[in-house]
Amino acid sequence: MRLKRRDYHTHNGFYRGSGEVWTIKQGWTQACQQNIEQLGISPKLESKEQDFVPYLRKQLDSINNYKILLGLEIDARDISGDTFLSPKNQALLDYTMIGPHNMPSQSIIWSELDDEDLSEYFTALRNILVNSLEKNDIDIWVHPFLQEIEISCDMHWKYLEPIYLEVLSICERKSIAVEINANYFRKRSPPKAAVHLWKSDNEYYQEKITILTRMFRIALNEFDIQFSFGSDSHDLKKVGDIGECIKFAKTLGIINKNLLNLNKKT
Ligand SMILES: [Zn+2]
Repeated sequence: MRLKRRDYHTHNGFYRGSGEVWTIKQGWTQACQQNIEQLGISPKLESKEQDFVPYLRKQLDSINNYKILLGLEIDARDISGDTFLSPKNQALLDYTMIGPHNMPSQSIIWSELDDEDLSEYFTALRNILVNSLEKNDIDIWVHPFLQEIEISCDMHWKYLEPIYLEVLSICERKSIAVEINANYFRKRSPPKAAVHLWKSDNEYYQEKITILTRMFRIALNEFDIQFSFGSDSHDLKKVGDIGECIKFAKTLGIINKNLLNLNKKT
């Protein structure tokens, strides 16, 4: 069965270090080349700076294409769950996504860390996730545990598993979709700091895929939850690049009714 190609996670230059700036029109042209049926433009929000929201809304309204949505990837950064998004700008969005980006994830493989240090890290991660998802009106939990899995694969699953189950039950209750992000599959070798932990790139990548499979199977088989795809593109040419996400979803047995289908709100 052919899975619906919807890319809800693309960055078009409206925050620091986000690379290339492209117009919504250019993004749609690129998305069409990748046979994308619905495109979400989702700049990152990680400070009070959000003048780009009304600017992009205007740009999108002038195109008047119902297959393009305006969203936001909110950085979850505070254990209070508070975000920078203003209610005025929230009203201009078709959807919102959230996930943490700035946890000191590189530190979780340090050999001198004891259980207490690790508990501290994972408790903070849990509080940020739980409170951000509970407190805000969110449509998608982006790239679950991407940073932790990238550096440690399944090494800390005993800490991640209870957080994961708790967060999935919030997602189920609040109808928040869980994202299958292309960045899970792009890095085929471990980060520099973690190179010594695996015998080869292949061993690392296999281990990463194994834990991702286990994680997403839990969401699919034990919860009533929908999934979304995200290219997480920072360059125009990667818009719609969700082939690996779809391949992975198929191996899990995800079918179209398991996929999030967003509608325009504004
Ligand atoms: Zn992200």
